[in-house]
Amino acid sequence: MLYGKWRPKGFAEVVGQDHIVRTLKNALATGQVAHAYLFAGPRGTGKTTTARILARAVNCRQPVEGEPCNQCDPCRAILSGSALDLIEMDAASNRGIEDVRELRERIAYAPSDLARKVYLLDEVHMLTEGAFNALLKTLEEPPPHAIFILATTDLHKVPATIISRCQRYDFHRVPNDAIVERLAFICQQEGVTVPREGLAAIAIQSRGGLRDAITMLEQVIARYGSAPTVEDIRAALGQVHDQRTGGLVRALLESDLAAALDIARSVADDGLDIARFTRGVIDEVRRVLAAVLRDGATADDELVALAKGRSDSVPLLAAALTELARADFRLDPASPVPLEVACAAVALGPSPSFSIAPERALAAAPAPRPNTPQRPSATQPAASGSGSLSREERFARDLYEHCKMVNPSHAMWLNGSFEVLQMDGDELVLGFQRKMPLEKVDTVCRAMVEEQAAAILGRQVRLSVKLIEASDQPRREPRRGHLAKAAEAMGGRPIGKDV
Ligand SMILES: [Zn+2]
Repeated sequence: MLYGKWRPKGFAEVVGQDHIVRTLKNALATGQVAHAYLFAGPRGTGKTTTARILARAVNCRQPVEGEPCNQCDPCRAILSGSALDLIEMDAASNRGIEDVRELRERIAYAPSDLARKVYLLDEVHMLTEGAFNALLKTLEEPPPHAIFILATTDLHKVPATIISRCQRYDFHRVPNDAIVERLAFICQQEGVTVPREGLAAIAIQSRGGLRDAITMLEQVIARYGSAPTVEDIRAALGQVHDQRTGGLVRALLESDLAAALDIARSVADDGLDIARFTRGVIDEVRRVLAAVLRDGATADDELVALAKGRSDSVPLLAAALTELARADFRLDPASPVPLEVACAAVALGPSPSFSIAPERALAAAPAPRPNTPQRPSATQPAASGSGSLSREERFARDLYEHCKMVNPSHAMWLNGSFEVLQMDGDELVLGFQRKMPLEKVDTVCRAMVEEQAAAILGRQVRLSVKLIEASDQPRREPRRGHLAKAAEAMGGRPIGKDV
């Protein structure tokens, strides 16, 4: 078993829990040992491993700066599993009061082969109420030679009275980069060659659980030998690598809504699991976003290069994450509409009304009313891409996107409700048809707007706002709302009279 074989032997090797390791080592180096520890966190993040290192560290005869030596008799007894005074109990299968009573009786005896008896209670949240009460009594008056380490994946099921008796450590999900590093190290030690992209796929699938990641690696090696390809790994993980995952991200990056919708529909037509496909797209967006944010790193592939070549890829990818995560497939798992709506929202800018059920949102997309043609809105790029936007329209869209990153609820007042009347010189004049957004932008949004405008334009500007009439700029063709546009792009037909 690779996981057991490469289980960290010292605190320094524990992956992704630096905050815990540092505190524990410092405390141990200065002789501060608590009677009860509580390790909380997701499965496979190193709780038991850290507990066993801690058990050695408090019993080691020659510890170095809080680390166990792993050479002395107590260290070796614990490593080999023969130490009588390290008692591990799985509360999931020993959850009753009798189990805890028995444990309490054993605690009374002095340790036999170690200096301190260490009780490791895994999945402690599984104990019954009576068992918790018995445990609490022990924690209230622990024998001086005993140390308790309670571990749980479900902290909120542990009574507050127990938690308050323990020194608590919260284990985090291990970052993907750290998992990839550890897997690469294990591969190197095992003489196995695995492409980094494959390790990254494993890391993503493990969702921050290093133990799961190592187990997956082991399964891949068992099935495909010592030099698996990326495709082998994706197959082993049950991720059928679909070109369309990357294709959709590319379409979103290029604001090519038509291409995005084509892909969404073809995935549905092929009978693929759309929710799963969407999760694949989310993972891909995350990967590209991380690569863009990790500036200076090499452009790993075409998508990353494309994203790095665009100045607005960070807000765009962030918006894509938000909208894709919002796609809800529970109503009709075979329908591509939630994915299509998410793509439309990314390409056209979101609308507060997208928060209602997508099918209904589309059905309810209003046809333009005869007497109030909607003003051309700069925050709504044409579906075919942003090439046709004027300089002012592009600036308006960028301003909205920037503000959305800073404060989404304030940015709402800029969503499709204004146009840029003047953006040269040191004054930025925005025109509004309605009083409410005008007042909001003039007051609560002012600092944000001036700041973000300065970031985009590269110089300080002073904001002024102006109420404008719908007839101010008759030269432009009225454009309909982006919901209607999205509905139309998906095959819907407006039902209004004036189309
Ligand atoms: Zn030792």
